[in-house]
Amino acid sequence: MQRTAKTVLISGASIAGPALALWLHRYGFVPTVVERAPELRTGGYKVDIRGTAIEVCRRMGVLDEIRANSTDMRGGSYVDDAGRTIGELPADIFGGRVEEDDEIMRGELARILYDRTREDVEYVFGDSIAALAEDADGVTVTFESGTVRRFDLVVGADGLHSHTRRLAFGPEERFKRHLGAYISIFTAPNHLGLDRWETYHALPGKLVCVYSSAGETDAKNLFVFSSPEELTHDHRDVDAQKRALIDTFTGDGWEIPRLLGHAAEADDFYLDSMSLVKMDRWSNGRVVLLGDAAHCSSPASGQGTGLALIGAYVLAGELARAGGDHTVAFARYERHMRPGVEQNQKMAEGFVKEMVVASKWKIALRMFMVRTLPKTPWKNLIAKKIRDGIQAAANAVPIEDYDTGAAASTARPTVAA
Ligand SMILES: Cc1cc2nc3c(=O)[nH]c(=O)nc-3n(C[C@H](O)[C@H](O)[C@H](O)COP(=O)(O)OP(=O)(O)OC[C@H]3O[C@@H](n4cnc5c(N)ncnc54)[C@H](O)[C@@H]3O)c2cc1C
Repeated sequence: MQRTAKTVLISGASIAGPALALWLHRYGFVPTVVERAPELRTGGYKVDIRGTAIEVCRRMGVLDEIRANSTDMRGGSYVDDAGRTIGELPADIFGGRVEEDDEIMRGELARILYDRTREDVEYVFGDSIAALAEDADGVTVTFESGTVRRFDLVVGADGLHSHTRRLAFGPEERFKRHLGAYISIFTAPNHLGLDRWETYHALPGKLVCVYSSAGETDAKNLFVFSSPEELTHDHRDVDAQKRALIDTFTGDGWEIPRLLGHAAEADDFYLDSMSLVKMDRWSNGRVVLLGDAAHCSSPASGQGTGLALIGAYVLAGELARAGGDHTVAFARYERHMRPGVEQNQKMAEGFVKEMVVASKWKIALRMFMVRTLPKTPWKNLIAKKIRDGIQAAANAVPIEDYDTGAAASTARPTVAA
């Protein structure tokens, strides 16, 4: 007979991992979260929580805190080489805080989820899974530190470059689809004096955005550039990433030279490929993937965080409903999530092409639209059309109520060595 799953190792303490830990603890499982970084990673861009993800946050009890930490953006503008405003776009096009769209800094959200779970959940920072050995009763996990422990289940919530995926499913190249662009984010002083405002500068094949959100004294700097081929550096080599960014933008105008100087110094520098993760299945025996590890939709979708939150809710709910029987729960989790995930991935493919415009004349056309759109009588119609499309994708994964009566027992995980 199937043994009830009780102990769950989660790899990754960003969004998906802590969200899953919260739900699993609530249902009586015993989650342990292992994070490779020595402490919680707080960098990153602002992320959107929309549609059903908002309801998930409400049920997690974190929605008020998320709203209290809203970016509260007012809008944004495009500027030319000399910094002159070409046109402005209001927050309802950019996705500021309205009822069906909450926006928060990724690092803030990670902190909220971590703070909500740290008392009840064991977090192990500065370590990583080195090997997984599954048998009929569970999984023996060897960590890079040398520790060996037993768990009933293992969840890979370790992002686009998931190490758990590599161990349980195979090399990254089999699942990652590069969308032809890179994104970089880092913090720098707010030289432009921005107040909850984003300033965009478009170049052929490149886009730069500087913004400052509510409560931030510094500015965030976002660089996007097209790169049909993948860069060859190791995705964890931050110095190589900085060099790649600086090489790509050296010689460009506006504030870019100054920003590149800050990039070189930034201690929260982030650069990664805009990629999808496409897999035929998200579980293999007792190992299951969650969030970007399973189905990254790239930053272009604006839905990666929402899908990670919804996925955590569904995975934990199905495990509770199935009394810990992972064979039933993993199949139901995947069946429930997959159609909505595919809809969002499809949307992301289109959005990446919109983010970086290849030629000068296409940029000129875009700037013409930016200049004229706010003055046209049909501007609300266009904004509504954009928002309706995004909203449909945000509601693509419906959520159910789970029977929390099916909780597992609260046994502690065993340490085998
Ligand atoms: C520092 C950072 C900045 C980001 N910035 C942005 C951004 O600006 N815009 C955007 O759209 N998305 C960004 N993302 C991605 C975004 O957080 C995700 O798309 C989304 O929230 C889904 O989250 P996730 O928890 O599935 O994966 P991720 O947020 O990618 O988190 C994965 C976590 O796993 C950890 N990890 C990786 N390898 C291992 C390992 N071997 N062992 C243990 N832990 C491991 C990572 O350190 C990270 O904490 C960022 C992610 C990070 C980590």
